[in-house]
Amino acid sequence: MKIAFIGLGDIGEPMASHLAREPFELVVWNRTASKAEAFAERHDVVVAATPADAVRNAWVVITCLPSSAEVEAVLHGENGILSSIRKGAVLIDCTSGDPPTSRSIAAELGGRGVEFIDAPVSGGTTAAKAGTLTVMWGGEPTVFERVRPVIEAFGKKIVHAGPVGSGDALKAVNNALLAVHILSAAEGLAILVKAGVDPKVALDVINASSGRSNSSENLIPQRVLTRAFPRTFRLALLEKDIGIAAVMADDLDAKTPLIALAAERFHEAREKLGESADHVEAVKIVEEENGVEIKSGSPAIP
Ligand code: NDP
Repeated sequence: MKIAFIGLGDIGEPMASHLAREPFELVVWNRTASKAEAFAERHDVVVAATPADAVRNAWVVITCLPSSAEVEAVLHGENGILSSIRKGAVLIDCTSGDPPTSRSIAAELGGRGVEFIDAPVSGGTTAAKAGTLTVMWGGEPTVFERVRPVIEAFGKKIVHAGPVGSGDALKAVNNALLAVHILSAAEGLAILVKAGVDPKVALDVINASSGRSNSSENLIPQRVLTRAFPRTFRLALLEKDIGIAAVMADDLDAKTPLIALAAERFHEAREKLGESADHVEAVKIVEEENGVEIKSGSPAIP
């Protein structure tokens, strides 16, 4: 099966690695060509010069880009996907996109005999490397069945969320919860550091109690207490996701003040920490405001 993969970023690259083997024939394109060339040195793939070249012979096209705006950009234009994608192909958009743009892309492709499903992923770069991502997809079940082996190559828990755009909606809300959990865990630990409680001891108790979350169980012990802060998922992308959730809430007239506040706080964190910071670094704004560092044995900074 001929596949084109567009976007070899932090998560796209390990996802694509599972498609660089039989029964698939993979062509890749990345805006920064050196990344695609480095990928081709490690995997049996062809590097295309443009998105149009990448998709010309493909039956399945996968996009994994920062947001729906970049998906729109690679679709259109002289060397864009739309200039050469074949009738009967399926575009799987693994970007954490926004529902209205995905619906409009699906309509545009549909007019050319090309099917679309939105299929954002969760599980981070660890699950992407292991091929065990959770995939939440929106679209028609008959279309999904045609591409099931492709999605199963990198996904383990694969769930139909509803019509086109539903995968994006579910992903945005999941990530809004992640943003709330990171900030609330950091705020709670900042109080405890000020109160003289070692955050390692605090997490030991919280993680055996009802205040636990993925942030308290994994992210903070592995990345904050150690001060390692590895870059696996850019803060800017989480800010984008929580922004999508906040816009959805507005559009649907849902009352979500916690999500709105977390969106504001992540916006502030992005301004302070920049485009390449990791999402967990958002705890640094809480630390700075409270004059503490959340690390083992950390005393309160007067
Ligand atoms: P990165 O920022 O690491 O990579 C983005 C990719 O998009 C790169 O290949 C980049 O190319 C390309 N790109 C950016 N702008 C453009 C453009 N204007 N035209 C063409 N290509 C462009 O993102 P991730 O791989 O981390 O994330 C991709 C998607 O997956 C996002 O929607 C994200 O929210 C989602 N996601 C990420 C997770 C993670 O753990 N990282 C987890 C779950 C979902 P270049 O190399 O040239 O910069």
